[in-house]
Amino acid sequence: MSDDNTANSDGDEDGGLEARLAEGESYEPPQSFVEQANVNDPAIYDEFEENWPGCWERAADLVSWSQEYDTVLEADDAPFYRWFTGGELNASYNCLDRHVEDGRKNQAAIKWEGELGETRTYTYGDLLNEVEAFAAGLRDLGVEEDDVVTLYMPMIPELPIAMLACARLGAPHSVVFGGFSADALATRMNAADSEYLVTCDGYYRRGDALNHKEKADKGLRGVDHDVQTVVVDRLGDELQHFLGAMAHDYDELVAAHEGESVEPVARDAEDMLFLMYTSGTTGQPKGVKHTTGGYLSYAAWTSHAVLDIKPEDTYWCAADIGWITGHSYIVYGPLALGTTTVMYEGTPDYPEKDRLWELIEKNRVDIFYTAPTAIRAFMKWGKQYPEGHDLSSLRLLGTVGEPINPRAWQWYYDTIGGGECPVVDTWWQTETGGMMITTLPGIGEMKPGAAGPPLPGVDARIVDAAGNDVDPGNAGYLTVQKPWPGMLRTLYNNDDRFLNEYWREYSDEDADDWVYFPEDGAKVDEDGYITILGRVDDVINVSGHRLGTMEIESAIVGVEGVAEAAVVGGDHDVKGKAVYAYVILEDGQEPTDGMYDRIISGVEDGIGPIARPEDVIFTPELPKTRSGKIMRRLLEDIASGNELGNTSTLRNPEIVDEIAEQVKESN
Ligand code: ATP
Ligand code: MG
Repeated sequence: MSDDNTANSDGDEDGGLEARLAEGESYEPPQSFVEQANVNDPAIYDEFEENWPGCWERAADLVSWSQEYDTVLEADDAPFYRWFTGGELNASYNCLDRHVEDGRKNQAAIKWEGELGETRTYTYGDLLNEVEAFAAGLRDLGVEEDDVVTLYMPMIPELPIAMLACARLGAPHSVVFGGFSADALATRMNAADSEYLVTCDGYYRRGDALNHKEKADKGLRGVDHDVQTVVVDRLGDELQHFLGAMAHDYDELVAAHEGESVEPVARDAEDMLFLMYTSGTTGQPKGVKHTTGGYLSYAAWTSHAVLDIKPEDTYWCAADIGWITGHSYIVYGPLALGTTTVMYEGTPDYPEKDRLWELIEKNRVDIFYTAPTAIRAFMKWGKQYPEGHDLSSLRLLGTVGEPINPRAWQWYYDTIGGGECPVVDTWWQTETGGMMITTLPGIGEMKPGAAGPPLPGVDARIVDAAGNDVDPGNAGYLTVQKPWPGMLRTLYNNDDRFLNEYWREYSDEDADDWVYFPEDGAKVDEDGYITILGRVDDVINVSGHRLGTMEIESAIVGVEGVAEAAVVGGDHDVKGKAVYAYVILEDGQEPTDGMYDRIISGVEDGIGPIARPEDVIFTPELPKTRSGKIMRRLLEDIASGNELGNTSTLRNPEIVDEIAEQVKESN
C-alpha cells in the first residue's frame, strides 16, 4: 500500500505524476473488502491453470441448467469452439424464476431512474410477470424460437424486459443502440433478417422530449422485408404517435396477456442468446454471436469474481444497454446473480453535474461501474460535485472501454472511492462477452494504468509480430491463446470474416493451434500486469519509431489542468507521420502558451523527444462515437488536411468542422 497516496494527487506541474505512477505505484485492496469478497483466495489462479478447462465448471455452476452438460469444452472444430455441450438452460429462467422460487419475489430487481426524476422499481416478482406477459404477446405476433428480434430503445425498463422476454422464447435479440441513426437500424435489421422490432415513441434527453418513433419509421423504410413493430409509450401525451398497420402498442399487448405464464424454452448451451454489433470505432460493425450457456455462465462468473456482486447489493453500471457492457453487466450478469441493478435513463449532467452522485447517495449504491471517458468528464467538472454527496455506501469501483490514465484512476480512487474502494480496470470487448484482463478486487494489488493480470483460466499473452512472447516492458500485440466460455462463436452469417478478423494473424492452423487476436496492443510488466496501449491501428510511425497513441495521451492527461487528449498521426513531409495532440482543458483552465509548453514537456519527459507533438490543438470537445470512444480517424484526416470521412455514427458531428476550422486558422 502506498503510504502517501494523497500527496501525489495534486501539485504536479509537468506530468511527473504519470511518470511516478508508471514506476510501480500500487495499492492493496483494504482488508475489510478482502474479508467479504466473493473470491479472495490467491490459489484460484493455480487451481484454474491446473484444472483447465474443467475450471470453467465454476462459472457454469453459477447458473441453473434444466439439463446438465456432458462436456465442458469441445475443440474438434476449432476455432468454432463449443462449450458445455449437451447442456440445456434458459437465460430468463436464470435471471428471474429461480430467484422467485428462492423466496426473493419481493426483492428489487431493477431500480429505474428516469431523467426527469420519476422512478420505477420492479421486484423480481413484478419483472417475471411483465416478462411473461410480453413474451406471450410476442409469441402472439408470431415470434418463434430462433427468430431475431431487434430492440431499438433508450434506457427504459421495457428494454431489459424485452430482452428477457426474447430469451424466454429462445428468440435471439439484437439491440441497436437508441442513439444510432435510422440507417444504422436498417443495416442491422437487414443483416440479421430480423422481422420484429420493439421500439418506443420517444424519450427525454436533457429535459427535451425526443421523437424516436420517427427515426425508427425512417429506418423501417430501409428494411427490405416486412416487420412487425411493438411501440412502447414512453412520453404519453407529450408526443402523439400513430401506429401503422403492422405496429402494436406495448401496453395493450402486455395488458392482453397479463397473468399468462410462458414456459421458458429449454435452449441448447450453444444456441444463440443474442446478436450484438460492435461499436464500429474502427470501421464496419461486426455482428457478434453469443450463446446461451457459455455467455451466461461467463457473465455471471465475472460479475461474481470481479464485480463482487451479492444478492443484497445495489449495483450500478452507468453504461447503455445498447452496447455489450450493458448486456453483460446491467442485465445478464447482475440479474443471474439476483442482485438489485440500477438503470438510469439520462445524462450525467442533467439537471446538474452531480446527478450520478445524487443517485448513488439516494440508492445507497454498493458497486459502481463506468468508463474512463466519463471519469475524465467528472474530473473536468470538478470535485465539488461528488463532494456534495455521501458516497460512503460504495464498496467497489470499476472502469471499462478504454485505458484509464493513472491521473484519472487516482482521481476516481480518491474522490469517488474515498481511498477505500478497490478499482477494477477491466479490459474486454464485445467479442469476449465478459471481462478478460483485470485484477480480482479481493486478491490483487492494483497498479493505476495497468488493467492487471488475465483472469484465472484466461491465457492472455503479449507477443511480437512473429508470435513470440515479448519481454516485460516491451510493447507487443495482445493475444488470447486458449478459448473461454464467453467468447463469440462467429460473426453472424459470416464465418470467413470471423476467421480473418480474429484468428488468422497468430494461429498455426496446420498444428490446429488457435490464437485469438483482439487487435489491441499491450505490454506486460515483471508481475504479469498488462497495460493496454490501444488498438493496433492506433500506432504512429514517426521517422521509423512506433509510438502508441494511448501512451502519449496518458502523458498529456497527466499534465495538471488537462482533462482529456486525443493523439493522432498526421502526414508530415519529413517525418512521414507527426504527432498531433487535441486537448480539452479542465473547466477554469486557459489555453495559454505556458499550458502549451507544459504539455510538450509532459510528453518529452514521459516518453521522449521523439514523441514531441508537432502541434497542440485546444478544443472544447472531441469527436466521439455513441459509446463514448474517440473517433481518431477523423482527427487524422484533419491533421493531414484530408477530405473528412463519414461522421454519421458520431454523437457530436458538429465538433469536427469546428476543429478543422481552428486547425486551418493556426496554419
Ligand atoms: P469496433 O470493434 O467495431 O471497432 P470497438 O472495438 O470500439 O468497435 P467494443 O467491443 O465496444 O467495440 O470495444 C472493445 C475495445 O475497447 C477493446 O478492444 C479495447 O481497444 C478497448 N477497451 C475496452 N476496455 C478497455 C480497458 N479496460 N483498457 C483499455 N482498453 C479497453
Ligand atoms: Mg473492437
